[in-house]
Amino acid sequence: MVPPGATIGILGGGQLGRMLGLAAAQLGYRVHVFAPEASGPATEVAAEWTQARFEDGDAMRAFAARIDVATYEFENVDPHAVSYLAGRVQVHPSARSLDVSRYRPHEKALVAELGGRTAAWAPVDDLDALHAAAAQVGTPAILKTTLFGYDGKGQARIDTPEDAAAAWDAIGRPPRPPAGHAAILEARVDFAAEFSVLLARGADGTTAVWDVPENVHVDGVLATSIVPASPLVREQADEAIALAKRIAEALGHVGVLACEFFATADGPVFNEMAPRVHNSGHWTIEGAVTSQFENHIRAVCGLPLGATALTGAGATMENLLGEEADRWPTLLAEPGAHLHLYGKTMREGRKMGHVTRVGGPGTAGAMP
Ligand code: AMP
Repeated sequence: MVPPGATIGILGGGQLGRMLGLAAAQLGYRVHVFAPEASGPATEVAAEWTQARFEDGDAMRAFAARIDVATYEFENVDPHAVSYLAGRVQVHPSARSLDVSRYRPHEKALVAELGGRTAAWAPVDDLDALHAAAAQVGTPAILKTTLFGYDGKGQARIDTPEDAAAAWDAIGRPPRPPAGHAAILEARVDFAAEFSVLLARGADGTTAVWDVPENVHVDGVLATSIVPASPLVREQADEAIALAKRIAEALGHVGVLACEFFATADGPVFNEMAPRVHNSGHWTIEGAVTSQFENHIRAVCGLPLGATALTGAGATMENLLGEEADRWPTLLAEPGAHLHLYGKTMREGRKMGHVTRVGGPGTAGAMP
């Protein structure tokens, strides 16, 4: 157990680090961010900040000496850096959770092993393999890089086999990583809705899950999360939650684990997971008794998990992308709207903040 008063190291200093830092501060912890950038959204909530590359062993060693436990706020950290850190200080979630969730073939293999459904897929390392994959998986399909994918980045749609060459160029002809594949081709799933399972697993193996949010993505980026989800999603939630629990168990995961699903006519189809707090769980700050950020900090520090029940009838979370954040005066004037701004400089399409309304469909707090 790492008691309040201790220092939590966080790899990455973006908005997830910022909200983790706020939750850590509430529980009496100090935060030390390690990030390649000189500053970021987590700057205002970090007592200390180390600017260095994740591969910088000297900087990582010095960081380890100054913290009591470590976590990470995004999965594009090199697992070697996490293993190196884990040799010196406790790190949660473990390097194994990170290794599986950042590499799509590992993710899909684990889910298949645990009896979950994924879209049909095939590995792709060059244009010839892409043609073969298109013949095997069929079209329409989506070409995805195996590593470094987030918010629809590193993806290209293939509507017919003729789109293959353009799609391969569009994802930047990624090189084959050591002992792995560069990309996968995934059949396009005909889904009725998207949703995610947000789960926290404590160091003692206890798990807590929040109500399942229904998520709407626009151009691959999350636009809104709504709780409670539609009846169709709610019908499929138990099966998805059971799979997410098996994944967390199999990984010995400690912290929040977010699993994204498609709700289809054949039941839930697993899309991808993140070994960390997730954008589709931001509504839990006001919409649940304990937020995903607080439960992640509790889990990482070996504290008991807090209750995940709803505080109201439900909640809606709307991301503020780019200039949408300029609506802040209007949002502040709206009774019951909880505005979060991440302190970023504006760029088109960039996640600048979010707004949560607690209530639920059909109540005064519902989103228009
Ligand atoms: P991802 O980064 O893999 O989560 O993809 C971002 C978004 O793209 C998803 O939330 C879906 O809206 C869409 N998408 C990704 N993969 C598929 C698929 N196989 N079939 C249909 N839509 C997909």
